[in-house]
Amino acid sequence: MDPLQIATLSYAITIILNCTCAALFFYFNPVKKQQNLSVTIQYFMVLFAATAVAYLVFLGEIWSSRVFSIITANLLFITGFYSIRYAFLWRKGFKKHLYQDKFFYAHACIFVFIQTYFFHLVDDNLNHRIIFGLFNYIAILIACLPVIPKNNLTLSYGEKVAISAIIISALLLASALFIHLFELDMFIYQTSLMIVQGITALFFLGAFQTLLLSDINELHYKNSITDQLTGLYNRRFFIEQANKILKSAQRHDFPISLIMCDIDHFKKINDRYGHNVGDKVLQNFSKLLTTIIRETDTLSRYGGEEFAILLPQTPIQGAAILAERMRSETEKMTILTDQKKIKFTASFGIAAINQKDYFDEGLKASDDALYKAKALGRNKVCIYQAT
Ligand code: GH3
Ligand code: MG
Ligand code: MG
Repeated sequence: MDPLQIATLSYAITIILNCTCAALFFYFNPVKKQQNLSVTIQYFMVLFAATAVAYLVFLGEIWSSRVFSIITANLLFITGFYSIRYAFLWRKGFKKHLYQDKFFYAHACIFVFIQTYFFHLVDDNLNHRIIFGLFNYIAILIACLPVIPKNNLTLSYGEKVAISAIIISALLLASALFIHLFELDMFIYQTSLMIVQGITALFFLGAFQTLLLSDINELHYKNSITDQLTGLYNRRFFIEQANKILKSAQRHDFPISLIMCDIDHFKKINDRYGHNVGDKVLQNFSKLLTTIIRETDTLSRYGGEEFAILLPQTPIQGAAILAERMRSETEKMTILTDQKKIKFTASFGIAAINQKDYFDEGLKASDDALYKAKALGRNKVCIYQAT
């Protein structure tokens, strides 16, 4: 073997082992137990497995036909790059697979045809194949960027890392493209490609794993601050948030109001229609409150059928108008289950809390007002009055 052949062989073997390890890393990834991320992980695995097999086919060119090797390796490469896009899409809840994508088939066919026919059968030119291949892979990577963010307003830590890794990898591939444009000698070729490939694989592995861990982190954080049944914030988060807002109100001197509300005779709903219907009432009531409050307000399920709403920058009169709207909308609402129409009401207690030194005092005041609303016959809004 001449030195160039040895270099080529060691280059291919290194990448095959690199990508196989990365594919195994995703195969044994504990994050895949998380239902919504398991398909994403499989696509990351496909990326590395397809790249490893593509290089294996490239090595096997010595034993198999050249045309077969070019067709298979190029198909595997393009499938690998498309898998990155599908991994991101599935992470966002997309439910179609790569094999259902007509655009992918069209792109793959045209790509493989050009690589095999023009750059092999008509004019056998490895240089052109590499340039055209890199050009296509960079385009696919760029097409991955818009599908990474789940929410266009804020990027999670993992999404920032994934976007950086894709941009850096596209730039690295572009730099390899640049080197190949100058048709330098084969050694420089091989070495530059190996460096780019090695770094890109490492970038992808680290960035994609970071993205998965960041998603899991966010999910656990969200679960720790929300109530599973209604999706509202739980009491713990509400108290934390309320204490922060109270400090800010004391410093900047703005009014805050607190509304406590409690569904009337909820026990009877449970007893008469069953727990499931009770749950449905809680969910519908939560949705109703969500549609009425402003984005800056914090709504929480404070206890079983008790809800707390913190209204920054809102004087008590404003809170009373809001609570009255909630009361009357609740009264108008009808819940349908098993052909039964269920109607219910809720009582509301309001207090201004910025004058209080501690949030607990405000809470007690609005609770007193709620107690008064119940005592007055329920389905009422009462404002706390110090005695
Ligand atoms: P009042 O008008 O005085 O508020 O009477 P009430 O029946 O609404 O109040 P009470 O505190 O006596 O009963 C609350 C009931 O809420 C008791 C409890 O079983 C029920 N509950 C608490 N959490 C849930 C839940 O998640 N789902 C369902 N279905 N019921 C719940
Ligand atoms: Mg109640
Ligand atoms: Mg209650």
